[in-house]
Amino acid sequence: MLVFWHQEDLRIEENLGLSKACAENPHVVPIFILSDAAQLGEASRWWLHKSLEALQKEYAAKGVKLILRRGDPLKIFKELNVQKVFWNQTFSEEERLVAQELGEKGRPFNGNHLVEIPHFFNKLGNPFAVFTPFYKTLLKEMKPVKIQQIDLKKGQEIESDSLDSLKLLPKKNWTKSLERQWMPGRKGALKRLHTFTGKNYGKQRDFPAEKGTSLLSPHLHFGELSPYEVWAKVDNEPFRRQLAWREFGSSFVTHFPKTTTENWQAKFDRFPWKPNAGSLRRWQKGETGYPIVDAGMRQLWKEGWMHNRVRMIVASFLVKDLFIHWKEGAAWFWDTLVDADMGNNTLGWQWVAGSGPDAAPFFRIFNPILQGEKFDPMGHYVKMYCPALKNLSSKWVHKPWLASEEILRQGGVDLGETYPYPMVDHKKMRDKALAYFEKL
Ligand SMILES: Cc1cc2nc3c(=O)[nH]c(=O)nc-3n(C[C@H](O)[C@H](O)[C@H](O)COP(=O)(O)OP(=O)(O)OC[C@H]3O[C@@H](n4cnc5c(N)ncnc54)[C@H](O)[C@@H]3O)c2cc1C
Repeated sequence: MLVFWHQEDLRIEENLGLSKACAENPHVVPIFILSDAAQLGEASRWWLHKSLEALQKEYAAKGVKLILRRGDPLKIFKELNVQKVFWNQTFSEEERLVAQELGEKGRPFNGNHLVEIPHFFNKLGNPFAVFTPFYKTLLKEMKPVKIQQIDLKKGQEIESDSLDSLKLLPKKNWTKSLERQWMPGRKGALKRLHTFTGKNYGKQRDFPAEKGTSLLSPHLHFGELSPYEVWAKVDNEPFRRQLAWREFGSSFVTHFPKTTTENWQAKFDRFPWKPNAGSLRRWQKGETGYPIVDAGMRQLWKEGWMHNRVRMIVASFLVKDLFIHWKEGAAWFWDTLVDADMGNNTLGWQWVAGSGPDAAPFFRIFNPILQGEKFDPMGHYVKMYCPALKNLSSKWVHKPWLASEEILRQGGVDLGETYPYPMVDHKKMRDKALAYFEKL
């Protein structure tokens, strides 16, 4: 029996590994295994359930059954007595062990990335630690992949677990707002891809109220789209550059796997972090008193997603205003983001903290007031997620505590009641952070 092992590639079309498997034997058996090793966040579990449901339907329309299993992939392949297993690489440790054990029986393909991450090195033969040369080399070396038309036929009947038995959905039904916002699966992914032109991306991408980015990140993470088809469809340099950041993120954690839990720059091990459960909770709930930070954290909670500019602002606030370790922030993002991705999340957090490769220097500390005024000048984004501030003018919406009592009264804001006072003084915390950093 030839098996195609779906992992982060929940699509039939534009699937390199699957097309190669079909070319060898159209009676290929598609299988998804919820591995015991998978440590998925709550929002990702919801997405995965919905995406598998969509994939099951797609296969059923072709008269083919998608097999679902839970457990250790290697044991399951042995139990099924497979002759061959094809898959698209994710570069996880588990996948490496499976490949090692399967030996000749295993056929990995590069179907989820634009470049061959494990073999993509700089001129000295080392993994890239700086983005610009990484990007330039990617532009030179990336080759378009031709995917054969797929001709699937019903494969051998084998037992499948039910989707519900994988228990991916949360017990409490808090996912209604996710349902409104997203359509997991290939159909939803193509809908997003076809409505996104990328036309004003370069101008709009930093303004969270503009909705100028593609919102493709969860579809890309779960592989409902291939990065090649996104690259081909959106011919826009600033956008393609961001797709290359995704490759850089994967390269980072593949070549430096310890960075998911450890600072890439060891000197940050000496940073005097100040763990504080109460402050962490206020940040998570969007009650810091800094409107752009709170709007971002509330967007995340409601929609399972946050705009990239705001991700940088809230991350900087946690690390450089509250001195809470970036790992705490990364863990919260991991649990709440529908696009939670080990490469991008680790790179994003280490970049903002200053501890990563090619990172923002530590002394570049985002000022939440100025960032808000620059990237949300009318306060539309803040007002969307912090409605208590909706009647304040753009002059005060990013710093309500500085407005006069009269202005607050007219805007219906009762500080400390309807909206919190700032939990820290940004200027003081900035000076402290710089002093700590000097000592490193
Ligand atoms: C602290 C922090 C944590 C992050 N965590 C994640 C995460 O878990 N998962 C995730 O996919 N992205 C993460 N990002 C990167 C980025 O914020 C999101 O990819 C982006 O906001 C997704 O929205 P979009 O699809 O509209 O992006 P677009 O701007 O339309 O970009 C297109 C695609 O390019 C990729 N991309 C864009 N920006 C980046 C970037 N800075 N780094 C890597 N890839 C990028 C994504 O796949 C994205 O879908 C993080 C950034 C920061 C600062």
